[in-house]
Amino acid sequence: MIIDFHAHIYPKKIAEKASKNIGEFYHTQMCYDGSPEKLLESGKKIGVEKYIVHSTATAAHQVEAINNYIISEVKLHEEFIGFGTIHPDYQDFENELNRIKNSGLRGIKLHPDFQKFQVDTPQMDDIYEVISALKMPILVHAGDYRYDFSGPKRILNVIEKHPSLIVVAAHFGGYTEWDNSMKYLVGQRVWFDTSSTLWQLPKEKALKMIEAHGYEKFLFGSDYPMWDHQDELKRFDSLKLNEEKREAILYKNAERLLKD
Ligand SMILES: [Zn+2]
Repeated sequence: MIIDFHAHIYPKKIAEKASKNIGEFYHTQMCYDGSPEKLLESGKKIGVEKYIVHSTATAAHQVEAINNYIISEVKLHEEFIGFGTIHPDYQDFENELNRIKNSGLRGIKLHPDFQKFQVDTPQMDDIYEVISALKMPILVHAGDYRYDFSGPKRILNVIEKHPSLIVVAAHFGGYTEWDNSMKYLVGQRVWFDTSSTLWQLPKEKALKMIEAHGYEKFLFGSDYPMWDHQDELKRFDSLKLNEEKREAILYKNAERLLKD
């Protein structure tokens, strides 16, 4: 059993284009087109049974439509656990966050680098407080040395300012900024996902971070459509974690995080 904690999906009409844009943003070739069907196909090959699926609004006016899309996909596929989207400029966030929760979505995905806001901007404070009160975790894209939106230090500021907000910092806490993640986030009250990391982070460093932060705070994620599930699992298994740690990261930690 595996839970994929980080999977992007896009409506058919825009799947190909959206996935191509992201590929260009990261100067890489996407493995897939971002459609829910291909996600299920790719994940099935390694035994993924649940997927945390999401899509990000890059402008406030897209928020409702994207949430509606995720809500409808969750209804179509019992394998999907949906995370909604919100945007710092979205005015009626309290109602929308409640609607997200009441529609059965389980958390909120933020991608500050695409959404162009600093993750610790005071503009997000009220939004974080509502998310906190609704007991929904946020899955936040973390880090990129080319930008200053979502680095580990800024994520630490959010954690400190919002003590009951449940935060999952993607990519071992800081994509291409793993030294800063080690410095600011390791050991803190934050979960990490493993996505888009193991292709670049040296094995010894990854193991050191897992050891220092605690394997019980790591969640396996593919970052579909960026990576193929089989390749991503191979990279994860090359760490040669013992069975207890392996199972914890592949699904047990996610189950614990999502249990209520
Ligand atoms: Zn993501």
